[in-house]
Amino acid sequence: MSSDRMYPDVLLLIDGAWTKAASGRSLPVVNPASGETVGTVAHAERADLDRALEAAEKGFRTWRKISAYDRSKLMRRAADLLRERVDAVARLMTLEQGKPLAEAKGETLAGADVIDWFAEEARRAYGRVVPARAAGIYQLVLKEPVGPVAAFTPWNFPINQVVRKLSAALAAGCSIIVKAPEETPASPAELLRCFVDAGIPAGVVNLVYGVPAEISEYLIPHPVIRKISFTGSTVVGKQLAAIAGAHMKRVTMELGGHAPAIVFDDADLDTATKILSTNKLRNAGQVCISPTRVLVQERVYDAFVEQFTARIKAAKVGDGLDAGTTMGPLANPRRITAMETFIGDAVQHGATVRTGGNRIGNKGNFFEPTVLTDVPKDARIMNEEPFGPVAVVSRFGSFEEVVTEANRLPFGLASYAYTRSARTANAIAAAVEAGMMSINHHGLALPEVPFGGVKDSGYGSEGGLEAIEAYLNTKFVSQAGL
Ligand code: NAD
Repeated sequence: MSSDRMYPDVLLLIDGAWTKAASGRSLPVVNPASGETVGTVAHAERADLDRALEAAEKGFRTWRKISAYDRSKLMRRAADLLRERVDAVARLMTLEQGKPLAEAKGETLAGADVIDWFAEEARRAYGRVVPARAAGIYQLVLKEPVGPVAAFTPWNFPINQVVRKLSAALAAGCSIIVKAPEETPASPAELLRCFVDAGIPAGVVNLVYGVPAEISEYLIPHPVIRKISFTGSTVVGKQLAAIAGAHMKRVTMELGGHAPAIVFDDADLDTATKILSTNKLRNAGQVCISPTRVLVQERVYDAFVEQFTARIKAAKVGDGLDAGTTMGPLANPRRITAMETFIGDAVQHGATVRTGGNRIGNKGNFFEPTVLTDVPKDARIMNEEPFGPVAVVSRFGSFEEVVTEANRLPFGLASYAYTRSARTANAIAAAVEAGMMSINHHGLALPEVPFGGVKDSGYGSEGGLEAIEAYLNTKFVSQAGL
């Protein structure tokens, strides 16, 4: 095996030590570009989880006593280590997840920025003093870490999905057990290694893999765990939120989306087609904020479809480690089945395939970037998150019509609009039921701005001040002098 294809046997991180599962079990890790097993990941069972819980409880007692100033310094050291290691970490991510190396590097470096931003905010988790009704009384609003966190993260952004939860928890003074994705385990393990190497006390950060449902059903109700954060599908999110609700645990849920991208007659088509096609194919469309329902006003519809389809067609699909690849394979074979099912169903409903529509070859999970038009609203792809490289372009007439379509689904995560009119921009931002809207550019998911959804897309934020708040309890102290 050439050195750029080397992949480790990934271990659990419990109480500061990298360790095999107590049972010795492990799972294979498959490269989605070749279908070949490249390594293994340790498979935690109950005994490992109990040790992780004990460690997280101890880690919390230690970490919460460390000053925000020192927590911040340690976090920044971890961010610097991640930057130093970007080439090796990104290569592992491409091997396990498939995305082009440039995207993997971008995600890793963005991860370091996330750590830095939360490290800075750690020093600004301010409480406040509320004016009292009588002299000599001080009313203090204090912020305290909520306690040990259980975080569940998916395979589409192996580092990004972990680093937001991890950094917010650590900044607030919480310890954490991360259940990272079994299919893409090595790059998140390298992220946690940066914290270990930066000197984080044992037990503050812990990492497990195994059967997701077994782990979540054990950790969420466990008395040690005080806060849950999950990123994944709406179906699973609702199950986990129900368990958390039954045990009165704080929850952040970042779930599915079906983003409308609205292009008005007065839009700059060159900008709109360039940004929307690039973002549709980023990470092969396996992105919760991917533009999925592209809604284009009548007058520019034909021109838009032509330009957009040409750009989608121009993508270079290949192994993410090959130079020039702009879209890698899908991350797992389930996505191929899903694409074939969604597209077959749409065509049966009368859709036109403008480009793509098929699997490429039979080795690895490669799929053609696809554009569909004339898709009726009752086709599955108009209602369920496709999570792949497929865009559906539809035509609309009036502002009211496009707002009704944008708000038709139970999802409300990202949304996009293109218009040269400030009046239209303000009106559409106000009318669409979504947690985020980006107008005339793609400006979502920076650490300093809120990131989250409404309706079935979940609740809570993974960015901005709101993200730290989710890991803090508010304590009120009223004090009179003697
Ligand atoms: P899935 O729904 O079983 O898994 C999605 C993620 O949730 C995985 O990371 C998995 O490990 C985790 N998961 C599943 N059941 C769990 C449980 N009971 N407890 C804890 N974690 C659990 O199936 P999948 O094929 O991996 O993905 C299917 C769909 O999930 C996608 O089509 C997409 O809609 C959605 N998804 C969303 C995101 C996101 O960023 N919001 C990421 C990955 C998948």
